Formats: sequence, structure tokens, C-alpha cells
Amino acid sequence: MIILDGKSVSQKILQEVREIVSKSDKKPHLAVILVGEDSASKIYVKNKQKAAWQAGIRSTVIELPESVEEEELLDKIKELNDRVDVTGIMVQLPLPEHIDKFKVIEAISPMKDVDGFTPENTGKLAIGMEPYFYPATPQGVLMLLDEYKIPIEGKNVVIIGRSNIVGKPMAQMFLKRNATVTVCHSHTKDLDDKIKTADILVSAVGKKIVRCKMVKKNSVVVDVGIYRDSDGKLTGDVDFDYVSKSVGYISPVPGGVGPMTIASLMYNASKVY
Ligand code: NAP
Repeated sequence: MIILDGKSVSQKILQEVREIVSKSDKKPHLAVILVGEDSASKIYVKNKQKAAWQAGIRSTVIELPESVEEEELLDKIKELNDRVDVTGIMVQLPLPEHIDKFKVIEAISPMKDVDGFTPENTGKLAIGMEPYFYPATPQGVLMLLDEYKIPIEGKNVVIIGRSNIVGKPMAQMFLKRNATVTVCHSHTKDLDDKIKTADILVSAVGKKIVRCKMVKKNSVVVDVGIYRDSDGKLTGDVDFDYVSKSVGYISPVPGGVGPMTIASLMYNASKVY
């Protein structure tokens, strides 16, 4: 069994991004909007700032109060869209309930949408055009598989989870690489049977769902899930200790997809349109 070591691969990618940025005439500048006081969001933003610093990318965090009006947030995005010195814009999710997240995402210029969440970028991905940016987590998963030279074409890929940020774009990106893709969710019947067919299994649920006997022998298991268990320990969707005994490759939590997502985001942030 081989561990898909996202921690070390992400460091390598950040170093590569740093080299690209240092040689480029156009300097990237990432603007991150943080609304409210959500502690998890604050940590994510701090981690992104740290990674940007490591990659030699200028970053600015714009903090807005929980009570900010939707209109004010949209105006801020418009201002950032218009600023030539800002090359990438990210709005940290989730947003307060009184704000329509789809309106906010739609307001970001697709050419600065480093998260790859705007309708233009997701639409392009869906119809097989080249988006300006691919969503960070699925792109990070593919970067990790590619680093370990894991073949994708013709493989049976099973994805558990169909969110807009992970499951759906992940499915599109595997299809683009000529895999045969099954997407499962909370209404899927006979989940165990579907999981058993996977040459590559990607789980993005947020609870312990992948147990030992479910996975195919020597398959590749990528655990996107990350949450705290009842003891407060960071964990993923996969019962790592047991599943790792029968698979060929497996990503740990922490140290797997998490750091890859950040590195992938910095790769996106280094692009200047
Ligand atoms: P989400 O929007 O909550 O989506 C969860 C998905 O899991 C949904 O599609 C849901 O189905 C499905 N699901 C729930 N219970 C299920 C069950 N019993 N059987 C099968 N499917 C089930 O979450 P997300 O934003 O995609 O995130 C998923 C996990 O990945 C979370 O733990 C999150 O923290 C983590 N995450 C990690 C990274 C990273 O960088 N490592 C990045 C993003 C997210 P329905 O659609 O039917 O509700």
C-alpha cells in the first residue's frame, strides 16, 4: 500500500508555483473576502495567506462584518473586478444567511475566479471547454493522482458526494480524462455495491462512510472528507486503519487532499489573465 502524501506533493507544487511567479513579469495578487467571524473560515483564510506567502503570491484579506449588506459585498467584488492590480478573487464560504451566495459567486469576474465556481467556469467545464480556472479541490486530487502516475483513462471512478465544489466538478474532470464515472449521494441505493466497482474511489461526504470490506482490492482511495470526530480529532470519510490494509493507494486525513487543495488554489492564483 502506498500513501498518497499530499503534504509533500503540495510543498513541491508550491515551490514550482513560486518559481513560475518569480520568473513572470505579471505579478499575481489574490484578494480574499472574509465575511463574519466563523472560526473555521478564519483558519482557512489564514492557511491560504500562508500558502500564498510561501508561493511568493501577494495576498490581501478583506474582512467584512457579519451584518454586511449583500449590495455592499457585490460592490466590493465589482471594485476588485475592475482593479488591474488584483488578479484573483476568492470569497470564503459559507456566507451569512441573508446573502445569496449564488449572486455573490456570479458577480466575480470569471477571469479572476480562482476558485473556479462562477457559472462561466463551471459551465465551460461541463461542456468540455477550457475554463479559466478548475475548482481547487478536484484539481488537487488529480494533481495528487498524477504525481503518483496513477492511470485514469478507462478506469471505473466512484465519487461519493455531489456538491458544487467537490463531487460535481470532480466527476466532470474525471470524465474529461476518459474515466467511467459513477456519482453517489445520500439517496443512492446499494452504495456498498457501487463502491466495490471502483478502481478509484473519491469520498467527499463529511462522515465515516467507507469501511474495510467495501473497497476493491488494490484500488485507489482518495479521502476528501475532513471533520472532527467526537474526541475533537481531525478525521476523514475512510476508516483508514482497516481500508489501508487492502488497497493499493490511499490518501490520509490530515495530510492528503487538504494541503493539495491549498497548493492547487495557489497554482490557480499564480495565473494572471
Ligand atoms: P456537502 O456539500 O455537505 O456534500 C456532501 C455530500 O455527501 C452530498 O452530496 C450528500 O448527498 C452526500 N452524502 C451525505 N450522506 C451520505 C450518505 N450516507 N451516503 C452517500 N452520500 C452521502 O459537502 P462538501 O462541501 O462536498 O464536503 C464534503 C466533505 O469534504 C466535508 O467533510 C468537507 O469538510 C470536505 N472538504 C474537504 C476539502 C479539502 O480540501 N480536503 C475541500 C472541500 C470539502 P446529498 O447531495 O444527497 O445531500
